[in-house]
Amino acid sequence: MAEARCMKCRTQVEIQNPEEVINARGLKMIKGNCGACNTKVCRIVGKA
Ligand SMILES: [Zn+2]
Repeated sequence: MAEARCMKCRTQVEIQNPEEVINARGLKMIKGNCGACNTKVCRIVGKA
């Protein structure tokens, strides 16, 4: 289960529909939605 900091809730939340992506800088991230407010959240996991 992945967690990320939600900007709206200002707390650590569980990522809904987590999806692993590699961003432009080559960092692996998990992105999804906040379980509480449905705002997009993402978490950097590490280098790809
Ligand atoms: Zn939230």
